[in-house]
Amino acid sequence: MTDPEVWDCLVIGAGPVGSVTAWKLAEMERSVLLIEKRPEIGVPVRCGEGISKQMLDMVGLEADPSWISSEMDGAIIYSPSGLELELGPEIAGPEVGYVIRRELFDQELARRAARAGAKVRVRTEALSMKRKGDVWIVNLRTMKGQVRVKARIVVAADGYESQVSRWAGLDTSLSIRDMESCIQYEMVGIDVRGRYTEFFLGKDIAPGGYIWCFPKGDDIANVGIGINGSLIKEKADPKEHLDRFISENPRFSKGTITEINAGGVSVCLPLTKTISEAFLSVGDAARMIDPLTGGGVYNGCFAAIQAAITIDEALRSGDISEKGLAAYEVRWREGIESEMIKNYLAKEKLIDISDEVLDKVIEAISEYDLSEISTGELLKAIGARYPEVLEITDL
Ligand SMILES: Cc1cc2nc3c(=O)[nH]c(=O)nc-3n(C[C@H](O)[C@H](O)[C@H](O)COP(=O)(O)OP(=O)(O)OC[C@H]3O[C@@H](n4cnc5c(N)ncnc54)[C@H](O)[C@@H]3O)c2cc1C
Repeated sequence: MTDPEVWDCLVIGAGPVGSVTAWKLAEMERSVLLIEKRPEIGVPVRCGEGISKQMLDMVGLEADPSWISSEMDGAIIYSPSGLELELGPEIAGPEVGYVIRRELFDQELARRAARAGAKVRVRTEALSMKRKGDVWIVNLRTMKGQVRVKARIVVAADGYESQVSRWAGLDTSLSIRDMESCIQYEMVGIDVRGRYTEFFLGKDIAPGGYIWCFPKGDDIANVGIGINGSLIKEKADPKEHLDRFISENPRFSKGTITEINAGGVSVCLPLTKTISEAFLSVGDAARMIDPLTGGGVYNGCFAAIQAAITIDEALRSGDISEKGLAAYEVRWREGIESEMIKNYLAKEKLIDISDEVLDKVIEAISEYDLSEISTGELLKAIGARYPEVLEITDL
């Protein structure tokens, strides 16, 4: 099929969020061009590869062994002094979900978009765009040189380092306290805790962040660290912290590193504005990463679906102005913003909290049966018993 002269929508970036946007729009029979600057979608991976079960239900994807490394039953959180808080299947099972093979997962989502009718082009980078009349003219670098395409609506799905949102006039600036610097190793020959993801907390371990171990098999896992930008003294800090943790822990020190990847995540509130005329920003580009966990796939894909619904409605009504796209802001904020605000406040506390207090909180939480107590009741009970930690639990 020949390309239309003007696409209904150009989606820039074929990470999971861009692909879901294109997939859902194509299912609504919109003409969609999905472009990705890298030659191979999903490569290199920059992700701990943990996703929840709700995430698959939300986008309408069946769990498939071809891109799932392992299914998780629960999580263990370690306090700075090593106290363990176990969150079993009934509490954390669906949340911890699966450890996936991100590159294959991302490729599957792009294939879904293509099969639904979207045109997918790799090694195609958006360089600039300008509005002329009622279309965007976007300058692309392709293997055949620079070309221009026209689109009624542009979606920025270009990730953490997004430039496209800025081209459309959105403020994407980040303070150093709202950035987390991460490095991760895939390690083989280590002791994993069965089908449990693990999180290690503490100022010496990972200042303002945590170390994670996400198992991908019996003796293999992603072992990574995120450190808050405001607490990094030197550039090599995250790597030094992770290397020290591994060398001091016999479960990990006997292992071999088979892959290294590094990247940044935003741990901020989402953008105050994610639309402008004929333009929407989604996923990491719109700062939708959960500020406490650093996970961004669920929130981003949730927003992608809301973006597709809103774009289809706006094109049908003929109003693609900022006002005509306002339903997108309402929809995604209703779904995920309150959780993001709560977790942002928790992250702010985590940066400043002392190891002693963190130990007390985790000790206190572990004394309750979490399957039988609501979060509100738990916070009240902890506050009554340990008034000194009330301050940090009062979120
Ligand atoms: C170390 C680390 C661990 C993480 N672990 C987890 C985890 O376990 N679970 C989780 O849910 N999240 C995790 N995250 C966050 C998660 O990876 C992101 O939230 C997720 O990738 C966001 O998807 P996205 O589609 O918005 O952006 P991305 O996946 O970043 O995709 C953006 C795409 O746009 C392309 N692009 C950029 N500019 C252009 C351009 N001008 N033209 C064309 N293409 C362009 C890029 O090449 C890229 O493919 C982690 C992040 C890091 C760094």
